[in-house]
Amino acid sequence: MSTLIFGHKNPDTDSICSAISLTYLKNKLGIDAKACALGTPKKEALFALNYFGVESPCVINEAKGNDIILVDHNELIQTVDDIKEANLIEIVDHHKVEISTDVPISIRVMPVGCTCTIVYNLFKENNVEIPKHIAGLLLSAILSDTLLFKSPTTTEMDIKACEELENLAEVNKEEYAMEMFKAGTSLDEYTISEIVNMDFKEFDMAGKKVGIGQVFTLDIDSILSKKDEFLEFINNTDHDMLVLAITDIIKEGSYLLYKADDNIISEAFNVKAHQGVFAEGVVSRKKQLVPNLTNMVK
Ligand code: MN
Ligand code: MN
Repeated sequence: MSTLIFGHKNPDTDSICSAISLTYLKNKLGIDAKACALGTPKKEALFALNYFGVESPCVINEAKGNDIILVDHNELIQTVDDIKEANLIEIVDHHKVEISTDVPISIRVMPVGCTCTIVYNLFKENNVEIPKHIAGLLLSAILSDTLLFKSPTTTEMDIKACEELENLAEVNKEEYAMEMFKAGTSLDEYTISEIVNMDFKEFDMAGKKVGIGQVFTLDIDSILSKKDEFLEFINNTDHDMLVLAITDIIKEGSYLLYKADDNIISEAFNVKAHQGVFAEGVVSRKKQLVPNLTNMVK
């Protein structure tokens, strides 16, 4: 029976891509392994799989009786429910180690930004060539977990791995990352009302009813192309003031659509207010949007 290799429940891009690429490596080394996942891949991972022409791993919810290798996790709560009835033989991960085992197993845990950085190094150590599609998946996961190296978890090893992987995958990593993030954070399937209300809170500011919604996406263009529809919706609510912040974590700021006096927006966020204005550095509702607006209303 093949060894099952899988990442954590509710799989992210790293969990999907590290399972597939480690499986490829094991197979090259003569080990019968199969890439699995504890859930279906999400939009971002699907973009990467599709881009590099790789099939989704098979979704499993039990592993009883199988040899298993865990990637991108090692906590019991994040893994397959019946892990106690499976035979855990190896872990490849970049999280703190929580698990204890009855027998010795192989564990490769490193404090790097992504499991795929470790898998990349396993290819090197074993002198196995990385084909284009595997390079693409490794690169996708590292860019995803490190948020294009913006995350404080990023290490020199992650950056070095990507230098070679971007050549092997024949993409430009910055351009590719933006495309992947856009696909992963696209809000295309939601209605205007769903987007405004996705993460919406109401506040009483000096007797005024103020609503502040925030969404995270890198597909700003598709939101701003529907600006008029958003404004019509926003202006028809019963709020005295409403701000929708469309936050771009790569550019580290928010685009603002609002029902409010231009002066208030200008002063609160230090911008020249107009619908869709980019407020640089404004990413937190709790620490920036709410206190800045409260100060202005009062
Ligand atoms: Mn993960
Ligand atoms: Mn990870």
